[in-house]
Amino acid sequence: MSVPTTRSIPLSAVVLPPEAEALVLEVLRSGMLAQGSKVAALEAAFAAVTGVPHVVAVSSGTTALVAALQALGLQPGDEVITTPFSFVATLNAILEAGATARFADVREDFTLDPEAAEALVTERTRAVMPVHLYGLPADLGGFTAMAERHSLTVVEDAAQAHGARFGDRAVGSFGIGCFSLYGTKNITSGEGGLVTTSDDAVADRLRLLRNQGMRERYRYEIPGHNYRLSDLQAAVALPQVARLAEITARRAANAHRLTAGLAGLPGLVVPTVPPGRTHVWHQYTVRVTGAAPVGRDTFAQRLTEAGVGNGIYYPKLLHHHPCYAGHPRVGTDSTPVAARMATEVVSLPVHPALAGDDLDRVVEVVRAALT
Ligand SMILES: *Cc1c(COP(=O)(O)O)cnc(C)c1O
Repeated sequence: MSVPTTRSIPLSAVVLPPEAEALVLEVLRSGMLAQGSKVAALEAAFAAVTGVPHVVAVSSGTTALVAALQALGLQPGDEVITTPFSFVATLNAILEAGATARFADVREDFTLDPEAAEALVTERTRAVMPVHLYGLPADLGGFTAMAERHSLTVVEDAAQAHGARFGDRAVGSFGIGCFSLYGTKNITSGEGGLVTTSDDAVADRLRLLRNQGMRERYRYEIPGHNYRLSDLQAAVALPQVARLAEITARRAANAHRLTAGLAGLPGLVVPTVPPGRTHVWHQYTVRVTGAAPVGRDTFAQRLTEAGVGNGIYYPKLLHHHPCYAGHPRVGTDSTPVAARMATEVVSLPVHPALAGDDLDRVVEVVRAALT
């Protein structure tokens, strides 16, 4: 192949609003870098955009998930049903909280299937944890109904889905919502997380767990942790929350342009959004199926060679990684749709820093790679 003459297009790029610099400087000059007024402002801002009454900022998306599960007071042997087609933190959080993970299959839209999840409910099931993968809300209507039937809590892994909506409600408002502020996510503070809940008691417990179980100085109510976010980090994220609608609109416009350009290619399935859901396009993920003229890995390699960043999220199901084999708290459930997805998916650049020319080039390179 010839050497690309144009710059390569990265799969993700961090775009920080200019206001972030002044806010970070303000924190630096204040001399108070740890959790304080900027964290409180970030929580208030995210509560306003999601319409969820309580937001608790924590140190990462993983600790958000762990804290959410700990707030439920899980006992050893309690089960959490989730998807095996996710980032490993989904599973690690369940294990860290002391619970047992069970895996149900996904739908063609990549998200956990509520009917498949319901089939795994036992008397030990305490929570169901759908993942809003790539920024697409899972079927929260189905999960809400299922949770009511079996007295379960819905813990939403919304790490990739800031501002996504199911019907007229934001993700994170259906149970306990767990968001990540990691460096590549739609809103970032480098590292960080946010937990959302409408339940006063859960919010109270989350705040205790975050800060050593301490209600007021040296009055400890429960054994806790240090899950705190710093004001320095909150200052980075805060202006992005204010611009979340704009950030999401750019991602959606980019996704729309890719979908229009990629129509009608043999064996290529572009992402679709079920009615009533708002996708926030953390990733734009296509499927290279058996009907395509080349295999998925060759396709991805051709993109890389042509300078188009791409990623495979995720190449293997969580419970198929050897380090979990034989783990007494990791289910060995069969999930054939998820297993097929793991062999077909490729994510393409969709981030807000892409120019129109970049998108045209992604389309051109994808079309060429499939012919
Ligand atoms: C990023 C991510 C997490 C973990 O978030 P961190 O901030 O990296 O700890 C959890 N679940 C999913 C689906 C993620 O994409």
